[in-house]
Amino acid sequence: MEYDIQSFYDGLVAHGLIIPVGVQGAFGRGAVFEDVLERFNEAVSRLSHDDGAEVYTFPPVIDRSVLERVHYLDSFPHLCGAIHSFFGTAIQALALAERANSGQPWGEMLGQTGVVLNPAACYPVYPSFAGTLPAQGRLVTMLNWVYRHEPSPEPTRMQSFRVREFVRAGTPDQVIEWRDMWLQRGLDLLQSLGLPAKADLASDPFFGRGGKVLANAQREQKLKFEVLVPVISLDDPTACCSFNYHQDHFGSTFGINTGDGAVAHTACLGFGLERVTMALFKQHGFEPKKWPADVRSKLWQ
Ligand code: ZN
Repeated sequence: MEYDIQSFYDGLVAHGLIIPVGVQGAFGRGAVFEDVLERFNEAVSRLSHDDGAEVYTFPPVIDRSVLERVHYLDSFPHLCGAIHSFFGTAIQALALAERANSGQPWGEMLGQTGVVLNPAACYPVYPSFAGTLPAQGRLVTMLNWVYRHEPSPEPTRMQSFRVREFVRAGTPDQVIEWRDMWLQRGLDLLQSLGLPAKADLASDPFFGRGGKVLANAQREQKLKFEVLVPVISLDDPTACCSFNYHQDHFGSTFGINTGDGAVAHTACLGFGLERVTMALFKQHGFEPKKWPADVRSKLWQ
């Protein structure tokens, strides 16, 4: 297997799997791409069917105050996507349109709205957990669009993508046991689809020099794991599934408690659906009809 960013991107485009739109990391998806993505998402649903997760759906935007309360900008200002709109007068509106129509910058004529693009699939759910959790804790699953400002020629690095997310809240024991169970389950699922997946400790792309310290602490405490599959590089495999243990970070921020009055702990895991889909195309070829029968039977049930 040869790994090359450009030839993989070109292959996805040539087979109608992705549709370039002129902006890096924001391509369209063709019907075959979407079919594989939906089939994988359904495989995750089947695997977790008996877990009893509550199913939520959120829009791609979240309350700006959520981003502020979790101090997102302390760590990831470079990835943030805040939504701005026009609040001015009729005369200012004419000036705005004139600037845009003549190719001049117009961003400074806008003002900030109350929403931001959601930068992490699990963020919208934590405020809804406020209060005392039931004895068994809470488990929620969502399929959310996520925004990160990382334009890149790598097809696996997108500005806008979908994550199939699970969030667990409860006591530290409940949360860690659940995270460890899913770490093995996620690895087994991807390997069962013929992907050379492996799990590894990971850290988030914290901003700046101070970010290195945070990333090291995250690794030392084993708070983040990823399941990785080579898609565009053998040496630098792509994270297709991410497991995060937040300890009491969200519990203390949003007032989530367990029955004994302690601050709840939370963990989440997310499958990057476009990335898993691309890993399958890389491993088995651009035409799903020619994929190995056992892989097809696991997805198209
Ligand atoms: Zn999450």
